[in-house]
Amino acid sequence: MEADQIKGACLCGIGEYIVITCSGACDLGLIADTVARKLRDNKVRKMNCLAAVGADVKPTIEAFKAANLLLLDGCPVDCGKKILEKAGISSFKYVRLTDLGYEKGKTPVTEEVINAVYEKVETIY
Ligand code: SF4
Repeated sequence: MEADQIKGACLCGIGEYIVITCSGACDLGLIADTVARKLRDNKVRKMNCLAAVGADVKPTIEAFKAANLLLLDGCPVDCGKKILEKAGISSFKYVRLTDLGYEKGKTPVTEEVINAVYEKVETIY
């Protein structure tokens, strides 16, 4: 890869099936991030960076538009969803952890919770 391409593009996972997450600082952000990494580690989806969309990295935005994209947001502030929509990305699967019954600031970050969320999103295609 040319140096300019490396500078201009995110080198994280690009593929047909991609997962991105708000990766927020709270419990639900951490759970969403951990679940996304688990999807990646189990080769269900490639994981990529929501921050690259916020930074207007064009190759990443174009790759996301062409992919089967799953976004995990922690709570109804919907940071990830707003970032994607602002960048003109309108087609993506969406899971908000509070919609699954988890409460922001009151959810223990345990294997049990992580696995329960993982099982709900693993089969989304
Ligand atoms: S969607 Fe909620 S949990 Fe995720 S970064 Fe935004 S405020 Fe934090």
